[in-house]
Amino acid sequence: MATVPQPGFNAPATAPAGSPAAPAQPQETIDGFQLVIEALKLNGIDTVFGLPGIPITDLTRKLQAEGLRMISFRHEQNAGYAASIAGFLTKTPGICLTVSAPGFLNGLTALTHATVNCFPMILISGSSEREIVDLSQGDYEEMDQLAIAKPLCKAAFRVLNAEDIGVGLARAIRAAVSGRPGGVYLDLPAKLFAQTMEAAAGKASLIKVVDAAPRQLPAPDAVARALDLLKSAKKPLILLGKGAAYAQCDADIKALVEKTGIPYLCMSMAKGLLPDTHEQAAGAARSYVLPEADVVVLIGARLNWLLSHGKGKTWGGKDHKAWGGQQYVQVDISPQEADSNVPIAAPLVGDIGSCVAELLKGVGSGWNKPPKEWIDAIAERKNKNVAKMAETLAKDPSPMNFHSALNVVRDIVKANPDAMLVNEGANALDFTRSIVDMYKPRKRIDVGTWGIMGVGMGYCVAAAVVTKQPVIAIEGDSAFGFSGMEVETICRYNLPVCIVIMNNNGVYKGTDVDPTGRDPAPTVFVKGARYDKVMEAFGGVGVNATTPAELRKAMEEAIQSRKPTLINAVIDETAGTESGRITSLNPSAAKKK
Ligand code: ADP
Ligand code: MG
Repeated sequence: MATVPQPGFNAPATAPAGSPAAPAQPQETIDGFQLVIEALKLNGIDTVFGLPGIPITDLTRKLQAEGLRMISFRHEQNAGYAASIAGFLTKTPGICLTVSAPGFLNGLTALTHATVNCFPMILISGSSEREIVDLSQGDYEEMDQLAIAKPLCKAAFRVLNAEDIGVGLARAIRAAVSGRPGGVYLDLPAKLFAQTMEAAAGKASLIKVVDAAPRQLPAPDAVARALDLLKSAKKPLILLGKGAAYAQCDADIKALVEKTGIPYLCMSMAKGLLPDTHEQAAGAARSYVLPEADVVVLIGARLNWLLSHGKGKTWGGKDHKAWGGQQYVQVDISPQEADSNVPIAAPLVGDIGSCVAELLKGVGSGWNKPPKEWIDAIAERKNKNVAKMAETLAKDPSPMNFHSALNVVRDIVKANPDAMLVNEGANALDFTRSIVDMYKPRKRIDVGTWGIMGVGMGYCVAAAVVTKQPVIAIEGDSAFGFSGMEVETICRYNLPVCIVIMNNNGVYKGTDVDPTGRDPAPTVFVKGARYDKVMEAFGGVGVNATTPAELRKAMEEAIQSRKPTLINAVIDETAGTESGRITSLNPSAAKKK
């Protein structure tokens, strides 16, 4: 056997083989730590998000020493959110590494988030010893993590023997990215890391996954059915969801929209697949086109609460009109998605790239673009709404409100279309989504399917690390609080992140009072808080902005300098509505209305 040390393998120094006085060869070995690292490397994984501690501290050190990027967070949930969005942006599983029990549980929220949002992610957690856990004998951080993870993610595996590490990671990768992507849990008990095996056998046990997310071609008759339905439409609409953004077939999606001439709407993380300023963009006439369309082509979008379950019952707003009765083409990789809420006349099951390519083939030179009346009617609504919005944005009230602040953000994003935009909050979310146009695919990352808060700083870190582009985060003051400590992480890795906190002194707004006069109201925070000082504490740039001009200057400087920056944008505390745009889902706010 060769005694030349393999890179990355533990090779004890020995005399060259075959030398006359060679003593008995000590066996060249590899341990569990190294096998995990080699397995990740073999599969092209170059970044791990996590938090060190027992039993994975040495793994984090060794990962770094072996050239992987180990991004170390302050709380596992944020590392998990980072991994989830890295999966969305790269189509390879984002890896989150945590300690056992509490660390694992903290990461689990993000793993479930990844699964719900169809993002590929693997949560790897160290765990206590099976023999002790299974007898409930009270081990350090004892918890049956595998059993807990199982119902909350797409798949879960545990590796007990070093020779199975390769298989474990391969299974995790395939489960995360194939079919409908999702979160996978990989349980690695502490004892595994110290196990050793013969080095060559260890290396041979690793698996390089081939074709992890195989293309899934749609059936020809399903394509024909979809095209027939589309041809019959008088008021067709294309609805692009984050599945379409994930699929990374941007040129074909653009071609499909432009060749068919069909107006389109983007779900929030699909914004920018075509520029929001595209003439076929119908976003500014959303409340008109949704009830009015007769055939809707859903591409990587689910008819869940974000689309009023296809029934138009929950989406509030003045111009709201109930909708329903549309006919649908639904392009999705999951064969079970169709009919989840309303009947789907033409399900098209396959990966979006393959499905869109097939649809495109059917849209030849003889294709009839949608009737002029439909296009004109949309244009009329759009122009009216855009003019109304321009008027609102032009106002310069003191103190700032969401509109006057976001008018600045809108210009900055327009001038920096490659920058990533992270967005969370209630009003800060809703207003940003509708006011800030996006120009390129996968630039907007936000609260996703659950509409949760807490993703902010994890997303910022991952977006900066993965894309190397400047990151702009528009955060509600409440939303920021869930992950705010990660500004230290942002400073430590010197990431080009500019956080803008829409500070209106509270959740929704800052004006509530405790009727008994004893405590602050549950929705109210310290008034006039200076979040910018938090950033300064770690060596970043903090700015307190009270006017649009100050906000603009600070954002421009942040993008230019790429220095970690936090801008405390002081917003009128009476601005904002309870629950933002989803008032109808909040029983108390709906009652007040
Ligand atoms: P949005 O919230 O933007 O409407 P959803 O998360 O509801 O988007 O829907 C995304 C859909 O895209 C899911 O149903 C998922 O199965 C599907 N999907 C994800 N990736 C692909 C892909 N590569 N090909 C086809 N469908 C996909
Ligand atoms: Mg607020």
